[in-house]
Order: sequence, then C-alpha cells, then structure tokens
Amino acid sequence: NEEKSLNFLEEIIEEDIKNGKNDGRVLTRFPPEPNGYLHIGHAKSICLNFGLAQKYNGKTNLRFDDTNPVTEDIEYVESIKNDIKWLGFQWAEELYTSDYFDTLYGYAVSLIEKGLAYVDDSTPEEIAASKGTPTEPGKPTPYRDRTVEENLRLFAEMKDGKYPDGSKVLRAKIDLANPNMHMRDPLLYRIKHAHHHRTGDAWCIYPMYDFAHGQSDSIERITHSVCTLEFIPHRALYDWLIEHIGIFPSKQYEFARLNMTYTVMSKRRLLQLVNEKHVEGWDDPRMPTISGLRRRGYTPASIRNFCERIGVAKRENVIDVSLLEFCIREDLNKTAWRRMAVLDPVKLIITNYPEEKEELLHGENNPEVEGGEGERVIPFSRELWIEREDFMENAPKKFFRLGPGLSVRLKHAYIVTCDSFVKDGDGNVTEIHCSYIPNSKSGEDTSGLKVKGTIHWVSVPHAKTAEVRLYDRLFKAENPLATTGDFKESINPDSLEILEKVYIEPDLLNAVPGKGYQFIRKGYFTLDTRSTPDRLVFNRTVGLRDTWAK
Ligand code: ATP
Ligand code: MG
Ligand code: MG
Repeated sequence: NEEKSLNFLEEIIEEDIKNGKNDGRVLTRFPPEPNGYLHIGHAKSICLNFGLAQKYNGKTNLRFDDTNPVTEDIEYVESIKNDIKWLGFQWAEELYTSDYFDTLYGYAVSLIEKGLAYVDDSTPEEIAASKGTPTEPGKPTPYRDRTVEENLRLFAEMKDGKYPDGSKVLRAKIDLANPNMHMRDPLLYRIKHAHHHRTGDAWCIYPMYDFAHGQSDSIERITHSVCTLEFIPHRALYDWLIEHIGIFPSKQYEFARLNMTYTVMSKRRLLQLVNEKHVEGWDDPRMPTISGLRRRGYTPASIRNFCERIGVAKRENVIDVSLLEFCIREDLNKTAWRRMAVLDPVKLIITNYPEEKEELLHGENNPEVEGGEGERVIPFSRELWIEREDFMENAPKKFFRLGPGLSVRLKHAYIVTCDSFVKDGDGNVTEIHCSYIPNSKSGEDTSGLKVKGTIHWVSVPHAKTAEVRLYDRLFKAENPLATTGDFKESINPDSLEILEKVYIEPDLLNAVPGKGYQFIRKGYFTLDTRSTPDRLVFNRTVGLRDTWAK
C-alpha cells in the first residue's frame, strides 16, 4: 500500500476541504480558446483539471474562451470536444465565455459607476507610455479623469458601434505606479468590428482575456482555477477585479506548462506548420496534437499515463520526448496484437516443400496476455517474403539469421536451412533457396534441432500489400525555438519515410485505426484513418526500442 505523495494542488485542495472552504466543493474548468487543435500540453492541463475533480468528488466545466472573434472557429470547438472525450474525460457543463458577454458588460458598467474604470482615447503607443516601465512609474493620459457620466456614455457608444476599431478602450483605474505592470490601468475592453462565430454581429466590443477569464470563473463558481506560470503576474488583477466587482471569489493557481524536447507546442506555430504545408494537417501523425498522436497510434491510456508520470511542477522544465515514446511503447507492448509484415522484401523458396501445398498455421494475437487474446490463421506455402536484412551472403559469426548453410526458425512455422541463393546482374540477391525440416513445426517440433534466430515472413501467394509510413521527429533541434532564425529551419527533412509496397499477412485486412499492432521485429503500427480497403496505409507509432540516442 504505497502512498503517493500529494502534488501542491492536491495539498491546497485538501487544506481547503479540511477548512470547509466552498463547503468542500471542488469545481475546476478547462478553458481552451477555440483557435486551434489541442496539443499534448493541453492534455496535461486536461488530465490535471479533470483528475483533481475526480479525485475530490468534484466536477470540471469545459469553457470555450471565445473572446477573440477573428481567430476562432466552430471546427476547433468540435475537435476540442472530441479530443477531450477520447482522452477519457467528461465535462459537467459545456460553456462559452461569449454567453457571458451581457454579464461581463454589466460588470464593466459597475466598475465605471464605482469610478474604477474609464474610457481612454489614447493610441496604443500612448497607452503603453502611460504605463511607464518596470523601473519608472507611469503617467495618466488626459482621459483618466473623465467623469463617471462621460465614461458611461462613451462606453455605451463604444458598444453601439459609434467608434472605429482601436479608437477607444476601456481601462481599469487602479494604480499607474504599481510595481506589477499588469495593475497599471489594464485594458478591459477593445473595439473590434468583427463577426463572432457564436454571437454573430451582436457585439463590436470584446473583453480582454484578463477581464473575461476571472469573471467567467466567478460566474461559474469555479473553486480552483488552474493555469500556467505565465499568469502569476495576472493573479493580482484577477483578485482585484473579483473583489471590486463583488462576485464569487474563485482562486487562481499556477503550475508549470508542459514543454517537450524536439517539439513546438503553441497553437500559433502549429497553425503555421499546417498553413505552410510542412505537415498534412492538424492531425498529421508527426504533430504533437492530440489528433495527430491518435492518428499515429497513441492510446488515451498512454497519454494519461505520461501526464501522470511527469507530475505537476511549480518551476519551468522541459520533458524529454522519449518519455512520451516510452509510455506508448509500454502500453502497446501489453496491448498490441502481433502480426507479420515484410517491409523490405526478398523471396525465399523452400525447395523441398510441395509446389501446390498450403498450410494454415496459427499464431496467438497477444503473447503478453494469458490466453493470448485468441489467435489468427497464417497461410504458409513454398514461397515466402522475408526481410532483405535477414539474409547475408557472408554472414559474421553472430548473425543468427540466414546465410549460406545457416538455419533459422520461421515464426509460427518450420526451421529452414539456406542451401543457395540467386543474384541479378547488379549483384542484388533475388532469391534465397532453403530446405525445411518437416518435423520442426512450431508447437509440434520433434526434430530435436535448436536454432538461435527466429524471423518473420509472409507467404507470397497470400500476401496483401500496404503502404507503410515511418515517422521520425518533426524537428532536428532539441529546442526548435532556440534557433536564431525561423523555428521551421530546424524541421527534420527526413521526418517521413514512405514504403510504398509492404507485404502484410492477410489477417491485417481486419485492422482498424487506433488498434495497435506490433509488426514483429519492426515496431508498433496502426491503420491510418485515411486508409481505404484498396489502398491500405499503416502508420508506425513507435519503434520497438529507443533508437534515437544511437
Ligand atoms: P497555446 O499557447 O498553445 O496556444 P494556450 O494557452 O493559448 O496555448 P488555451 O486554449 O488558452 O491555449 O489553453 C487552454 C488551457 O490549456 C489553458 O488553461 C492553458 O493554461 C492550458 N495549456 C496550454 N498549453 C499548455 C501546456 N503546454 N502545458 C500545460 N497546459 C497548457
Ligand atoms: Mg490562450
Ligand atoms: Mg497561448
């Protein structure tokens, strides 16, 4: 009964529950902006928010933080919901910040009425100047002392569309000398004559993140609002707004965002990769998006497990991407069904096996599980495809595969010995001639022979063909953002290798996307979502072992 130690958020929540805060209620939220697909960093936040709620009998809201009309889209809303469900979580309520626009507007009016907000006509440069610098206090603009009446009228006119974009903003009236720059009369509303994907043309003023976020938390009575470290300096404003509007006191807590080697993780940059066609789309299997990882063959359990393992930190750090790869490999080793596929084929002919004969052999699906999860039928015949690298003309001593005079076991079948081989004019091996030992069949072997190596194969007349896509890391640099120029300069030109014609055993016609297969000795694969019956495509999820470091 090993006790796992609590992370700092769990400690805070347990303390709150003990003190009867919020009557012991725990309500978290996951607040994506629908301006892109979710990535593995979001998965971290999802596992954290939903995980905390599950652990303390609470709930989690899904709130679309849709305050920026220009970059948001319904396509993103749908993909986000799909990804959260796929990860295995269910939100209590599906909410939209835009549904609070009326309430938020009312809050802004109430701040104006209290003399705590004003309409400022300054240019962005003048506003920036009015905030001063970290070492110098700011100076008021000429608009800071407008009367409540004038501010109320101007703000209403802003809302009514009387003013062009950028001509006026609403600012909180706090303290232009505050050591925290975020408290130096921050912007609350800006004018933007833009169509919003949910509110249409109802609004031409939109709340800034700082004004929308905490207030939305409060409206929903969120108890623990968890965000990433960059928001630490926003916390004072979060608390100030809630206090001065006089609403439910949600509390903000910050943890370290997930950063990963060989990966970029901001939606803005991922969007560039998509728009500039460096990848096939948001769900390209090389993308760190949840949809990309899913198409690549990652399982929800492997991603949840990864998030659990990296834990919750209070300091910035960078996680090695090989930990993510370790997590999927560990999962697939236990769950993937074993199959045979020959990626780089050469023909093997068993000269003492009758020409018209075929046998139906059997192979268990999953040797890691008691009972093997059943078995499939594997046709066997005189001509087989084997991997070119499993034959060597002049094999060194420890080559436990095929070469003149060498013997191997064919997986689930017989022991064969290589007698001769055929080469074409260019010196390439085209045929390997073997003889088999009839009483050496797997499971009923009475030959008494021992061979060291076992190789995979596919029967030539029964083989099906597929395209196989081998992926490597999308970036060559451990930190793609550290390059002096554009991060795209460190894109790995060899991140995708396509094998057009791979021979697969016929049972793989039953493969479905998302189901993991170990192509034995070759790695873990899944059927691509865009695969069709007449053109099968398999994606390599991950190799059998970590080869990157070599
Ligand atoms: P990006 O910078 O990639 O666009 P974002 O923070 O702007 O991400 P949001 O849609 O606002 O994206 O994020 C929703 C939630 O996911 C936020 O609470 C945010 O803190 C969290 N989140 C985003 N990226 C990460 C990350 N790398 N690690 C942990 N949490 C993250
Ligand atoms: Mg954001
Ligand atoms: Mg961001």
